[in-house]
Amino acid sequence: MLSATKTNWITHGGWAVADQAVFVLTNVILNVLLARWLLPAYYGAFAVAYSVFLLIGACHAAVLIEPMLVFGSSRYASQWKAYSDLLLKGNHLLATVASLGLAVAGVCSWLIGSRALGGAFLGMATASPFILCMWLTKRSCYVNQQTQLATGQSLIYFALTLAGLLFLKGAQLISLFSAMLVVALASALAGAWVLNKLRVVGRPIQTRLDRQDVTRAHWEYGRWALMTNILLWMSTNFYLLALSIWSSLEISGHLKAITNLAFPLMQANAALSAAVLPVLVVSSSNGSEFRRVMYRAIGFFAGLGAVYGMAIGIFGAPLIQLLYRGNYDASMKVMWLLAVVPVFDGLNAVLSSTLRSLEQPSRVFLAQVVAAVCGVSFGIVATRAWAVVGAVGAMVLTGGLAVVVLALSTWKSLATDKLDDRRSRPAEKQIYCDLCRQAGIPYGKAKVYDLLSCPRCKLLWTNPLTTSEQVAPDATAYSGEEVYVSNAIAQKQRFYSQLQTFFDVCGVTDPKSLRVLEVGSGLGFFLDTCECLGIPAEGCDIAERAVQLAHEKQRRIRLGTLDDSYMAESFDAIFAFNLIEHLAHPKEFLNHAHRILKPGGALVLETPIQEGLFHRIARLGHRLSRGRLNFYGMRPSGHIYKFSKKTFAIDNGFRRIYERNIESPFREIWGNSSLFTFDNRFLYRCVLPIAWLVAKLTSQGNRLFVILRKNAQPGYDLANSFSLGGEPCR
Ligand SMILES: [Zn+2]
Repeated sequence: MLSATKTNWITHGGWAVADQAVFVLTNVILNVLLARWLLPAYYGAFAVAYSVFLLIGACHAAVLIEPMLVFGSSRYASQWKAYSDLLLKGNHLLATVASLGLAVAGVCSWLIGSRALGGAFLGMATASPFILCMWLTKRSCYVNQQTQLATGQSLIYFALTLAGLLFLKGAQLISLFSAMLVVALASALAGAWVLNKLRVVGRPIQTRLDRQDVTRAHWEYGRWALMTNILLWMSTNFYLLALSIWSSLEISGHLKAITNLAFPLMQANAALSAAVLPVLVVSSSNGSEFRRVMYRAIGFFAGLGAVYGMAIGIFGAPLIQLLYRGNYDASMKVMWLLAVVPVFDGLNAVLSSTLRSLEQPSRVFLAQVVAAVCGVSFGIVATRAWAVVGAVGAMVLTGGLAVVVLALSTWKSLATDKLDDRRSRPAEKQIYCDLCRQAGIPYGKAKVYDLLSCPRCKLLWTNPLTTSEQVAPDATAYSGEEVYVSNAIAQKQRFYSQLQTFFDVCGVTDPKSLRVLEVGSGLGFFLDTCECLGIPAEGCDIAERAVQLAHEKQRRIRLGTLDDSYMAESFDAIFAFNLIEHLAHPKEFLNHAHRILKPGGALVLETPIQEGLFHRIARLGHRLSRGRLNFYGMRPSGHIYKFSKKTFAIDNGFRRIYERNIESPFREIWGNSSLFTFDNRFLYRCVLPIAWLVAKLTSQGNRLFVILRKNAQPGYDLANSFSLGGEPCR
């Protein structure tokens, strides 16, 4: 039996494939008919104008569509109506600018005497706003899981385009401009149909949408996609433009006409590699399994490309004769060269997916840059010298280079990546505040993660929360063991004074009657301190080595974390020092603490905060360097969170009754402790001693010592040792 989600996924997947197929088919038919009916020079003009339009489309996709596919179903899902209206406005703005640009290009072409190109650009200027709108609405259907609507739209577009073109041909009205009018009309009607259908979908929950937030989010995401899309555009479309400049529009027409043969497989490669990506990601937790999946995928894509390439080599020439009625027979000699293009394209698609699944998108980008730079430089020379043959040769070279760079990167990643021993899972992304479920606003950026800040409680976190590797603690080593051991006395003194504060604030008169739990008890120094004061305390820790070491003296630490193994309302106080910032889901921790504590019980935390000198300097450095310096000491799977005093002021089932800034022990932050995870170690080491001293002198320490009290519910007797006499004393 298939689960409902799986069936749902297959249904949507099926509709999406159907949608893609119809869409690609329409484009192929449109191209074949135009190439068949128009003179090569006119078809070349269409190819040039269309490739310029595709560049606009690449930008449109990068800043509107691709971010929408990510944010539309997550960050702005509850504000879909307002969000999609805003995107439509953005679409209209971009379409207007694009249309005006194309119209100017058309008029200029006309003036310099190229009627064909003038007509093509003017036709494109008319059609482009409607095509862009259709693309956006199509992907809106995907976001709303209405893929059947998208397929419907493609069918309408297909039927109207085909009917319109056949009508024009029958009425002997076919020209570039009239054909583009048909495309404009077909896409306008198809777009309007979906817009009308989607209005009904509108979700009821509405909150105010922050326009600036949307713009910023789209730009942050889109600028990388923009560069990638432009490079991808160059790898095929650049040569059409180059040929029209070096040779003639007619030669561009030839190139477009023959590359049309490879187009369906390239579209299929893109779609299939997107489908392979999740499979690779899932298998990346197991090295040998991953390699097996990867080799199979490479074999499949290479095989598909080879078969398709062979077909082009053997049947390409007769097919060109048949499809284009002899218009492009002159270009039939490059068929075997063209046959190589699908093979490289398939390999590129699968290797890119492999690197993405290994979380190495930068290497994919690098490969594209190398390939585009070399390919285009060669292409400029080659298209001048050998026209169509040169252009196809340049495409082969670009594809081949990309394959080589991607293969080397993959090989290197697999060799350096300890794929076999990492207990991996996909990096966990989170754009919502874990505590109040508000969408985070961008705060900063590092190489592999973003910093997001909660607009409500100011909580700061890294997105993703975790990295894919090394989630389980090392069983044999305990990070910072020597530092902690050498600090034992100073550390215990700190704990002693913190316990005194806790007694004062909570009005504890008889410590011996308290039941205390320390979460993340490490080597047990806090428990030792409690023992000296006669408090029966127990601990838990997930680090096996630490538990082992602590057990050398006495068994009082449980291997594990704050979870269901503790009884409800069984502890008077829970202590957690420098722990909560490491937890992927602090809300879960707070919920457990709330459950386990007796009414009126105390949760005592120590954690790095934003209201310290250290963080302020980091913020300044970050701003002055425009994001290049990252001193925050945060990273996925490390210090994931940095709290704010405001975070603790918000009701999470607790009331804050005491807080004080304290500074980290100097040796601890200087040495090899968990805090030492900064991007710029040298600068960090220079700034650190001064910052530490000033912070100490001005009570601007980088950590907060905070006591929270479980909200007492009426009707409960408070634990004996709590008189509730301790009012907030700051
Ligand atoms: Zn929050």
